[in-house]
Amino acid sequence: MTAQDNTKQFSFELFPPKTEKGIEKMRQTVTQLNLLKPAYFSVTYGAGGSTQSTTFAAVDWLRSEEIETAPHISCIGASKDEIDSLLQRYIGQGITRLVALRGDLPSGAGLGEIHDFSHADELVAYIRETTGDHFHIEVAAYPEFHPQATDPFKDIEYFANKVSAGANAAITQYFYNADAYFRFVDACEALNVTVPIVPGIMPITNYSSLARFSDSCGAEIPRWIRRRLEAFGDDTNSIRSFGADVVSDMCERLIANGAPGLHFYTMNQAGATQILCDRLGITG
Ligand code: FAD
Repeated sequence: MTAQDNTKQFSFELFPPKTEKGIEKMRQTVTQLNLLKPAYFSVTYGAGGSTQSTTFAAVDWLRSEEIETAPHISCIGASKDEIDSLLQRYIGQGITRLVALRGDLPSGAGLGEIHDFSHADELVAYIRETTGDHFHIEVAAYPEFHPQATDPFKDIEYFANKVSAGANAAITQYFYNADAYFRFVDACEALNVTVPIVPGIMPITNYSSLARFSDSCGAEIPRWIRRRLEAFGDDTNSIRSFGADVVSDMCERLIANGAPGLHFYTMNQAGATQILCDRLGITG
């Protein structure tokens, strides 16, 4: 996958930093990775609007740098009025791409009085109903299934509903098992869902935080990877080097077998993503 191969699209995800130091780090990360000429940078959004001001600040800065930006929007606990004002704000900024999600309310937070949206397909339908074709809409996909999914086949049908509601493409939860992705894409095709499903790629830089996060979002770290990462202990260099080998091999296999591109979860750090891009020939 090279910059010349314009049939493959790659993109980078950021989270909205809260501190001055974090803002500086994010800006450095964007400045470095933007040299690789990605299709866009996406910016996450806390469910219930919990990161609204910091997401806006990150999006405003990206737009001021004339960088193609895809804000995430989550609908759980949001009213239609709140979604309308987000959409109008983004239209006013010349944004044409969104990542539309249900989101998760923080544990213990109730829905309160607001039940305008239950699932992401309703948000996608609402964006289409109110703004037509203005936005290119990405939705989330789960090759290893959503952690709350009681039935894997239903989970795929619910994913298909988001596409029927008007999603143009999908980004997956991260995984370290390419076969889960290929099987998921096959199952979608069997339901005539043919939109691009872009693998979400999480670089491996730290074992304990990755293990914790993976447990909560339902991403599996295969035993052979987990055991090696555990054995490295505090040896960060070995973790990063092994992680880069494993993840770049998987990316190569994904691309060679038809993945339409890659979406990197940068965690606002350029280093590990840059190494993967270098190995994959993404040079800008
Ligand atoms: P949905 O597609 O609505 O699915 C959620 C669950 O409901 C699934 O188990 C599904 O099977 C089930 N379901 C769907 N429709 C129905 C139905 N009609 N009846 C019964 N069950 C149904 N979270 C954030 O808060 N902010 C972010 O910025 C963010 N960005 C993300 C980006 C990506 C690429 C990914 C993969 C995830 C992101 N998340 C984010 C996490 C996401 O919000 C959570 O995984 C959330 O739990 C589900 O969101 P969803 O849009 O996939 O929901």
